[in-house]
Amino acid sequence: MNPAYVALGSNLDDPAAQLRRAIRALRDLPQTRLERASSIYRSTAVGPPGQPDYLNAVALLHTALPPHQLLDALQAIERRQGRERGERWGPRTLDLDLLLYAEQVLQDERLSLPHPRLAERDFVLYPLREISDTNLVLPDGRDIESLARACPGNSLVNTGCRLNTD
Ligand code: AMP
Repeated sequence: MNPAYVALGSNLDDPAAQLRRAIRALRDLPQTRLERASSIYRSTAVGPPGQPDYLNAVALLHTALPPHQLLDALQAIERRQGRERGERWGPRTLDLDLLLYAEQVLQDERLSLPHPRLAERDFVLYPLREISDTNLVLPDGRDIESLARACPGNSLVNTGCRLNTD
């Protein structure tokens, strides 16, 4: 089983319910165990102005699915929850990003690992830090604690709500 960190985000159609539904879908993936989920965070939307705030969280999976199969599964969950691929960084019912998959470093037309924008996003770094027992180190040697400290997190609020992983 390989550790895989997945970022969840939603800013449409009852975002909290979208995240709860997505967590259940992650829990039910084949060959996969849902180990942990962070609290729910609220963040200001990146991208076109005038969008509602996002709710974000990060989940840790242990999975035997290879990375591209896991990406297929994440995209199937997005589709089931009504994701339409429209405007880049436009509002969405559910966005699932594969942040890290074990120590894998890869880049092809479908998948980049680690996720290319992981290190600059407070709504990813803070929940990642919350669910890591130890200071998580990226394949390039940078660690989450230092990256989170360097990322102000101005627009980020920990709502204190937890996602049920049972
Ligand atoms: P987005 O609109 O942010 O959900 O981006 C989705 C696109 O990014 C898809 O076409 C994926 O194939 C691609 N992609 C590349 N790397 C990743 C990754 N680590 N996690 C999720 N999607 C990825």
